[in-house]
Amino acid sequence: MRVIALIPAAGQGERLEGGQSPKQFLPLGEKPLVVYALMKFQLCPRVNEIILVIPKDTERYCQREIVEPNGLSKVKKIIPGGSRRQNSVRYALEAIDSPCDLVVIHDGVRPFVSVKIIEQSIELAEKCGAAIAAVPARDSVKRVAPELGVEASLDRSKIWLAQTPQTFSLQILKDAHRRAAEDGFYGTDDAALVERLGVKVQVVPGLYKNIKITTPEDLAIAELFLKGNSGE
Ligand code: C5P
Repeated sequence: MRVIALIPAAGQGERLEGGQSPKQFLPLGEKPLVVYALMKFQLCPRVNEIILVIPKDTERYCQREIVEPNGLSKVKKIIPGGSRRQNSVRYALEAIDSPCDLVVIHDGVRPFVSVKIIEQSIELAEKCGAAIAAVPARDSVKRVAPELGVEASLDRSKIWLAQTPQTFSLQILKDAHRRAAEDGFYGTDDAALVERLGVKVQVVPGLYKNIKITTPEDLAIAELFLKGNSGE
């Protein structure tokens, strides 16, 4: 099966830098943050091609500072994203113009994904059409009202936190995005769109260290992971 990776990295980084600098380009160790995720997909033998989605007007920067110096030869397209993550993924889907059976989507700001998890999600999606990395909740989970009153304690043994990679058959993901656009539905991940079609999504047990870099604290934690050499 031919596999294309879609890497949404078009966020503006408001939560990290007050909107000054997109977080995916901030330095982690010696390289821009987004390079780490891209390297894992470059190294994964099951991935044939990568489409990178970035903020508009950063194409030249990405080609010169991200793709070329790091030998990211699988990055075949660099396209500008949309105002929301879901739009960025949809634009990447629309940009696919080579043979493709499966798409694997991964947030550009999750540098500690492993090649093994990428492969496992591809293998599972090959069998059942839709597979996502997720980890079991470790804290107690409450449903809380807007005024901060606890409404309910949820059964933690059934709660998993969804990450990326999320891998789908191309046709399923295209149908899911088309349906969401028709309905004006926005989800927080691609699996939410696929679930609305009635397609069963399967979980690949993920890694707790596969964190999404969202805040300055996350970036500090990422530096520690890197020093501990745990970013394999
Ligand atoms: O916003 P959040 O941190 O959930 O973003 C997850 C990923 O989606 C990041 O890699 C971010 O750059 C990307 N994104 C995007 N287009 C947007 C917003 C976020 O590609 N409009």
